[in-house]
Amino acid sequence: MRLLPPLGKRAFRGSHLVMALLRTADELAPLLSKPRRLLAVFAHPDDEAYGCAGALQRAGADPDAAAVLLCVSRGEASSMGPQRGLTPEQVGQLREGRLEDVAEIVKLDGLLVPGLPDGRLARQDLDLLAAPIRAALEAFRPQVVVTHDARGVNGHADHIAVHWAVRRALSGIDGVRLAMIAYTPETCEAAKPRLLFPTREEDIDATLDLRGAEIDAKEACLRVHEALVTLREEPDGDLVSRPPVEHYDFLGERLSPRAEDLFARLGDRPRR
Ligand SMILES: [Zn+2]
Repeated sequence: MRLLPPLGKRAFRGSHLVMALLRTADELAPLLSKPRRLLAVFAHPDDEAYGCAGALQRAGADPDAAAVLLCVSRGEASSMGPQRGLTPEQVGQLREGRLEDVAEIVKLDGLLVPGLPDGRLARQDLDLLAAPIRAALEAFRPQVVVTHDARGVNGHADHIAVHWAVRRALSGIDGVRLAMIAYTPETCEAAKPRLLFPTREEDIDATLDLRGAEIDAKEACLRVHEALVTLREEPDGDLVSRPPVEHYDFLGERLSPRAEDLFARLGDRPRR
């Protein structure tokens, strides 16, 4: 494992990059000049790291691509709050701060955190949940949106709610590829006792074999979140043994052979 800058030194903080990060949907318009645009939408800070940090890094390194992360909640309901005597507000602030670290690692162009209530997303009105996502779609006009699958990857009600909110936000918008995070049956088996719902091999439309910088970035993102929750700066074995691939199931598409990139063969796709 390659050594990465220790978190304690806040190695990723304070550069002009974070300062330049776009934070509202209105500000995203200049990114329309980039030919490839990727929007990632997740429920909590850390979902993006597990889910698609490699793809975000790939977009960040591509001068013709832009990537924006929309994290619906600030993650304030995390169990680390009661464990460490922190208020939900403090937890939300800490976890949102870690998203800024992630933004710097993978060179995000935009980070939107509408701050809807963590742990209670499934009880929100679906249109209310979809509204910030819709605003981002309209301003940024991504060709690809990445999010949780319909089972919420691990059954988390917030993840499932975000999946359906993305579907609602996309209704009436043509030509956007919806790439859902997928895990192979083999990975889910290896993850036990942690629950992950597998996607059938034949439903996986893209497999990104992560390259050196992408593997490093994904690991650094996972570590940023992990260190906050566990107060340990060294990742545990589970984290380092994660396979250096990301799988995606494209809604309403079947790519055979599988794509090696989220933007591959966009022109082939049928209209929904
Ligand atoms: Zn989550």
